[in-house]
Amino acid sequence: MKSLELYKKAKILMPGGVSSPVRAIKPYPFFTKQASGSHITTVDGDDLIDCCMAYGPLILGHAHPDVRSAVQEQLEKGWLYGTPSPIEPAFASLLTGDHPGMDMIRFVSTGSEATMAAIRLARGFTGKKEIVKIEGGFHGAHDAVLVKAGSGATTLGIPDSAGVLPDLAAKTRQVPYNDLQSLEALLSKSEDVAAFILEPVMGNIGPILPDRGYLEGVREITKAHDVLLIFDEVITGYRLGIGGAQVYYNIRPDLTTLGKIIGGGLPIGAFGGRKEIMELVAPAGPVYNAGTFSGNPLSLSAGMTVIQLLHRNKKIYTDLAAKAGQVAELSGMSRSGSMVALGSMFKFFFRPSPPKNYTEAKECDTTAFRKFWERMLALGVFLPPSQFETNFLSTAHGQKEIEHISTAYRQCLSG
Ligand SMILES: *Cc1c(COP(=O)(O)O)cnc(C)c1O
Repeated sequence: MKSLELYKKAKILMPGGVSSPVRAIKPYPFFTKQASGSHITTVDGDDLIDCCMAYGPLILGHAHPDVRSAVQEQLEKGWLYGTPSPIEPAFASLLTGDHPGMDMIRFVSTGSEATMAAIRLARGFTGKKEIVKIEGGFHGAHDAVLVKAGSGATTLGIPDSAGVLPDLAAKTRQVPYNDLQSLEALLSKSEDVAAFILEPVMGNIGPILPDRGYLEGVREITKAHDVLLIFDEVITGYRLGIGGAQVYYNIRPDLTTLGKIIGGGLPIGAFGGRKEIMELVAPAGPVYNAGTFSGNPLSLSAGMTVIQLLHRNKKIYTDLAAKAGQVAELSGMSRSGSMVALGSMFKFFFRPSPPKNYTEAKECDTTAFRKFWERMLALGVFLPPSQFETNFLSTAHGQKEIEHISTAYRQCLSG
C-alpha cells in the first residue's frame, strides 16, 4: 500500500492517523518502509536523507550494525525478565560516571516518564508544591508540563491541553528562556517552588542557545532560593558530548533526566541526581516510581552499545559538529532568516536573527518554513516537519549527504 492509502486507513483507526502529533504531516505523512544509516525509504519508493533522526535518538544513524548485534544477542537470552539483570548496574555505572549531577539513577521507559518522576521527586524532597518551567519548553506529554509546551504543541497551536486540570496547571509557573531577572523575581515572590526544570539548550524549539552566563545564573539563583534545578537532558544528553550539557557548560544540576540517545533507538528514559535526593525513590524511600518495562534489557543493551561506542570514538563529536557547521556555513547566507548550529543540532529560523526565547521563536514565518520544508522534501531531504523542531545529524551522514543537504538548502532558500 502507498502512503496515501495507508493514511486513509490509519485515520479511521487512529486519531489523526498517527501515534504522535508531530508526525501528522499535511496533507498526509509519508509512511516509512525501512531505514538505514542516514536514509529513509518510503513505501512509495522515495529515498530520503533523514535530518530528523526520529527527533534525536539516532546519533549513530538508523539500524547501526553494532546496535543490531547487541539487540540480537540480548534477544537470544530473552527480552523481559521482571527481575534485575546484570546490565542495569553496568549501564547505571556508565551513565552516572559521565554525569557530574548524577550519583544515582532510575531507569524508566520514556523521557516523559523521566520528567514526571523527577518532578514528583523534587516535590517529595522539598515538600513544596510549585514548579517553574521555561515558557514554550517541552518535557514530554504529562499534565505538570503541558503548559505552553513547545514543538508539537506549538506547531498545532495548542499551548495547553484539554483535560489538564487548571488547578494543577496553576502550580506550573513559567519564565522566558535566557531571562535571569524573571526567574529571580518569580523565586523571590514564591516560597513554594520545588524545582526549576529546563532544557539547558532548548532543543524542542530550535535549538535556542543559552546566552553567556545564563546557565551559571540559573544555578546560582535556584541554589540561593533552595529550589532544585532539573536539567532535562533528554535531547542534549550525549548529543552535545559525553555528559551532555552539564559537562559542556560545566553546571551541576540537582536532578537530570535522560532519554532518546541512551536507548539506542529503543524506548527509554532515566532520571538521576544527588544521592540524598535519589534515596527518596521507592523502594529506598517514599516517592513512588515503578514500571513493568523499566530497565528493559533490550533498550539497555542497545543504549549501552551506543554509549560505549561514543566513549571509544570521542572524535565523533568534533566530526559531527564540523558537518553541521558545514551545512550552516553553506546555507546560512540567506537573508530570509538565520541559521543556528550547535554540535550536531542545527536549524534555519525564518526570522532575521536567532530567537532567544519562545516569544521570539513564535515570530518566525511558519508559512515560509512550510514552503521551504516541502521543497526540501522534493529534493530528497527530510527535515522535521516543524519550524520548532531541531534538525539532527548522525555519524551515518557522510560527505555526500552533507553536500546534498547543503545544496538543497541553498536552492530552497534562494527564492
Ligand atoms: C523527547 C523529549 C521528552 C519526552 O521524551 P519521550 O521519550 O518522547 O517521552 C522530554 N524532554 C525533552 C527535552 C525531550 O526532547
